[in-house]
Amino acid sequence: MQQNKRKFNIRYIPLYVLYAAACILFFVKLVNIQITGTDRYVKTMSMTHEREVAVQSIRGEIYDRNGVPLATNEYSQTLQLDYSSLPADNGEKNATLASIVSVLDKCGREAETVLPMTGTYPHMEYDEEMMQTQLCKNRMYKFLIYHNIKSGLKCLDLYEEILKEYALLDEDGEHIYDTHTEDIIVRIRYSLDCTDFAPGNPYPLVSDIDLKTATAVLESGCKGVLIKKDCVRVYGVPGVGSNVIGRIGKIPADKMDEYLAKGYSYDATVGLNGAEAAFEDMLRGEDGVTVYVEDDYGNVLDSYVKKEPVPGRNIYLTIDIELQEAAEKALGSQIRKIVADARATGIADSGEKADSGALTVFSAKTGEVLALASYPTYDLTTFSEDYAELASNPAKPLFDRTVSGAYQPGSTFKLATAISGLMSKSITQFTCINDTGKYTYYDDYQPSCWLRSGHGELELVDAIGASCNYYFYETGRRTGIEEMNKYCRQLGLGEYTGIELPETKGILASPEYKESIGQRWSPGDTLQAAIGQSYNSFTPLQLSSYIAAAVNGGTRYKATLLLRSCNYSGSDVQENQPQVLGIVEMDETAQDCVKRGMKRSKELTTATKEYKFPIGTKTGTAQTSKTNNNAVLVAFAPYDDPEITLSCVIENGANGGNAAQPVLDTISYYFNLSKNGTRLPPRQTEQTPAE
Ligand SMILES: [Zn+2]
Repeated sequence: MQQNKRKFNIRYIPLYVLYAAACILFFVKLVNIQITGTDRYVKTMSMTHEREVAVQSIRGEIYDRNGVPLATNEYSQTLQLDYSSLPADNGEKNATLASIVSVLDKCGREAETVLPMTGTYPHMEYDEEMMQTQLCKNRMYKFLIYHNIKSGLKCLDLYEEILKEYALLDEDGEHIYDTHTEDIIVRIRYSLDCTDFAPGNPYPLVSDIDLKTATAVLESGCKGVLIKKDCVRVYGVPGVGSNVIGRIGKIPADKMDEYLAKGYSYDATVGLNGAEAAFEDMLRGEDGVTVYVEDDYGNVLDSYVKKEPVPGRNIYLTIDIELQEAAEKALGSQIRKIVADARATGIADSGEKADSGALTVFSAKTGEVLALASYPTYDLTTFSEDYAELASNPAKPLFDRTVSGAYQPGSTFKLATAISGLMSKSITQFTCINDTGKYTYYDDYQPSCWLRSGHGELELVDAIGASCNYYFYETGRRTGIEEMNKYCRQLGLGEYTGIELPETKGILASPEYKESIGQRWSPGDTLQAAIGQSYNSFTPLQLSSYIAAAVNGGTRYKATLLLRSCNYSGSDVQENQPQVLGIVEMDETAQDCVKRGMKRSKELTTATKEYKFPIGTKTGTAQTSKTNNNAVLVAFAPYDDPEITLSCVIENGANGGNAAQPVLDTISYYFNLSKNGTRLPPRQTEQTPAE
């Protein structure tokens, strides 16, 4: 046992020695650090670190289909002062500022500063008006505390304290610079001292400087000056197409997480609605990164560009802004006319409550959206000033009725009923139905034609022309709701059009829909659905997209606002190709019946019959309450080879005929026709000035 203990001790001796050696070593090291090596270690500990600051890329611009600028960038330059890049020494700092003052004087520009004093030394006075503001008081307070100057000094006394503080007097108390230069140096240094700024957030010294001044300042080689380029959106055709173009602004609070996840900075500018939001990914570009190398005190020692920002892509919309303007004007003036006429006649509920509406123009051959007029509307250039009024206006100018409003189609739906009847073979184009006024097939539900006496015997095209309810009750009953809806869905009714804006899907009246709201479908519902009543409600854009598929032979194109995009330099152009969402199972007879029916309707409707250009139209009057009807009209033009389709809805517009004039005016503009639809000599296009 004893022996074991001895062995144990001997074995551990080398360890004890090692431990003692380590202790001595640490002690020596400690002495070195504490007493002899102070300076060297402080230097090593004061390390530099890098801070990355995002540089927002230039936002892509928005043009119409003909290259008319809609939302473009305008640049302004601000001369900034980066305090941390100025020399630390008081004398050198003043000398640098004196040279900046000299350059600005030569260029006729003045530094923008916040010192609340007027007059020339020694005749100084406080600027009483400035001194009244809380901001000014706060700054002064901060300044006095920082420099340990007592408050309540007379203006001149404070100024002289400042001169001393900034070392603007020499050892004998003489002024180093002339009065003007000295004054500006004081003002700049005071502003730097008491406004909040940090590296990467320099002080804006002179705003909106021209190229000459910017160049002169940069060439002077003064330390601490930066030229910052600012970019603002300007609108080429103010007040037109605002709902389509959209606004930009700071990221809304409820979308902050989403944008941050995509790599945006907190203060980034993003598209808020319209094309600005829809094409955000393209318009945005890629942010760059500037790295600031700083010491422990936040002084910027160096900066370099880690990643150059990539400008966003320019977007060419399918919108023709002149057509858009014509559509907006036609819609607005018609709504005002309906109200004026109704008031003049004094007949109740004849349109005096009309206050809003929508008009869409759609390419029947590509799905391109040529105009989306929503009334009332707003002006992007005065949006901020107008906001309170816009937000409180009961007619909701900020609501884009063309894609977000859902309206009963009324009799414009009968064309879909006709196609489903023909294609399901429940009728032929020659099927003759005898309208006796009241539809008596069912014992318990007997609706009437709008013409109480009945239209008598009609074939399909005449029934469309006369908008006979009875004919379509019978067609709907024979076809059945399931078969009818199969074709309606193919035509895009109650389906998304595919447009890049946030759109409402609308409702296609169906047993499933009625069940979803806790009710059962009855045979009477089918009759109402067949004439566009029941739960049917669609967006104005859906209506023009549906008519396009019906008159172009059954191709349902995806609605789009994007014609093409290109990069900043224009070297990479990408055309947006038409996309087909689906093919309607319809034949030439069905297409022909729709076209002839709409032609007949145009000829029989008072509001359209005098129009000379060959087109097809169909009115709809949709009851929205006991006393109010929406006016609806769909159209295509020209008759032989349909190029465009249009839809117009006027809320509380009394009857479908009231929706005709804005559509005719828009067609006239598009095809360069007179008011009554006759050809005009070619339009003089404005000469674009040479660049
Ligand atoms: Zn009838």
